[in-house]
Amino acid sequence: MNNIIARKLTVEKRKLQTCKVFEVKIDKSKLSQKSLKHLNKLFLEAKWFYNYCLSQKNVNDSNTKIKIVPVKVKEVFENRKLNTLRSGMKQAIKTRLFNSLSSLKSLKKNKHKIGKLQFKNRINSIPLKQLNNTYYLNFDKQTIRIQGMKQKLKVIGLKQIPENYEIANANLIRKTDNYYIHIITFQNKVNEIIPETSIGIDFGCQTQLTLSNGIKIEFQIPISKKLKKLDRKIMKYNRPKSKNKYKDQLKREKEYNKIANKKKDIRNKIVNILTKNYKYVCFQDENIKAWQAGRHGKKIQNTGIGGIISDLKHKSVTPIKVSRFFPSTQLCPNCGTKRKLKLEERTYICNNCNYTNDRDIKSAICIEREGLKNSKIPVDYRNSKTEEILTSTVFNLLNKIDNIKVGKLESLSQ
Ligand SMILES: [Zn+2]
Repeated sequence: MNNIIARKLTVEKRKLQTCKVFEVKIDKSKLSQKSLKHLNKLFLEAKWFYNYCLSQKNVNDSNTKIKIVPVKVKEVFENRKLNTLRSGMKQAIKTRLFNSLSSLKSLKKNKHKIGKLQFKNRINSIPLKQLNNTYYLNFDKQTIRIQGMKQKLKVIGLKQIPENYEIANANLIRKTDNYYIHIITFQNKVNEIIPETSIGIDFGCQTQLTLSNGIKIEFQIPISKKLKKLDRKIMKYNRPKSKNKYKDQLKREKEYNKIANKKKDIRNKIVNILTKNYKYVCFQDENIKAWQAGRHGKKIQNTGIGGIISDLKHKSVTPIKVSRFFPSTQLCPNCGTKRKLKLEERTYICNNCNYTNDRDIKSAICIEREGLKNSKIPVDYRNSKTEEILTSTVFNLLNKIDNIKVGKLESLSQ
């Protein structure tokens, strides 16, 4: 019972906090042979234990105190000892599996077509529950100790975690042949002083983000040639367990991570700039899945707009969602008349009052006004001079981001 109360209290507390994950890298050059072996063994045993849990009729029946598990070797099962995996880790693996199964179940209920969880032949993430239980940090010496391991492991990047952050769980991660710890932290939400400013955002396929202040943001991180080449190469291997195939798979993973990181970097920076400078962030809750199914699928995947929308929802001081059915393209923000636009019409001209503007900017303006109106936030106090200064500040900040194209109406292709 006490446990339940404690958990409820934590849930309440977390609502007032924001979560941030820090990645620290285990310094391999300082790793003893013994520790390296131990780490590899941990991942191997985690896989064995995961597969054991999955093989149970009911995951809840999995025994987290178990010391020996059956492991399928070719066609027969052999017993393997779990020497490095601690019961806290086993518990966390079991919980993780249970959660995946539950979410699969609820997807199924909602009529999604889903597959079954498969037995794994590699696990790259081990949950470390609770600081000072399954893992220990030393900020002065920049080390981490994992339960069951003798050596305190030197890590890189621990200094990036601010002192006032509360440290929760962590994950031990294996990426290609390096090891990382993802440390999950919480901090109290501070009511940052952001002036009464607002922005509307229109998402698109050609121009990813168009802002109501006239700024347009374009970016594409396509799958690299190297990745495509590796994909083809890996397909061609006949022997499933060839050493070269494994090497190429690692290379592909590395290349894939590089692309994913580029995308993540762009996403974080854009969201950061918008949420730090605008108190009210208005956007339509787009159905990205429907876009993906359409002819722009690849492009959307290359940009990760879905991720940007979900980040805006969580990180804005006041996120304002406007219904995806709101006719932002058709509406005239000046007189309220509606007019259908052809796909190729890039400029909106109102039949009624002659209001003229770029199609996407006008949409963003409509989204902003609709959002503010629905939230009963007055707009008429605005000072156009300060708005202008803010717009140019934001423009300059966005311009510093690598791999994106930022423009104001005139400078981008019309
Ligand atoms: Zn009009």
